[in-house]
Parts: sequence; structure tokens; C-alpha cells
Amino acid sequence: MPTIFELVSPPALESLSTPSEYKLGREIVRNEGVELEEFGPQRVVAHATGGQRRLVELRAAPEGLDYTCTCSSKLTQPCKHVVAVGLVAWDKQPK
Ligand SMILES: [Zn+2]
Repeated sequence: MPTIFELVSPPALESLSTPSEYKLGREIVRNEGVELEEFGPQRVVAHATGGQRRLVELRAAPEGLDYTCTCSSKLTQPCKHVVAVGLVAWDKQPK
């Protein structure tokens, strides 16, 4: 089982997301729009503010990164909120 931290490197997030969502996600991080609620190697929960405040959950699954966001019930690619939370999780991972 991978950990979240193996799945949310900036290049991995960039390849999963679209260029525009990735860029917007980085802006959310730059504006300090991410508030972590739960932070662990298998599961990260956080609020992300990009426009509206959204709840994001990231999970490490055997087949890769599993994510949900309250901005859409059917995400096929990481939205800007998922990107933002992923980038913060990557930055805060235990070294
Ligand atoms: Zn979202």
C-alpha cells in the first residue's frame, strides 16, 4: 500500500490534473487557502478555499491516489482544491 506522500509529488499531481486546475491549485497554496483537518500517511482531510470553501479528502489506495472534493460529485481529474491539498500534504510530509 502506498502512502499519500508517494502519490502527491508535484509532478504526479501535475500529470493527473489539467494545466489550469494545477495552476489554480498552486495559487490556493500561495494564498494560504488550505486548512488541514486530518493528516496521516493513508488519509488527509482539509478545507481548501478557492472561491468557495471546499472539503477535500485524499486517500492512498492500492491503485493510486483516491480523492473527493465537495465542489463536484463526479471528479474524473483532481480539481484545484485536490491539487492544493496534495501540494500542502507533500510539503508537510515527515522528512
Ligand atoms: Zn474541488
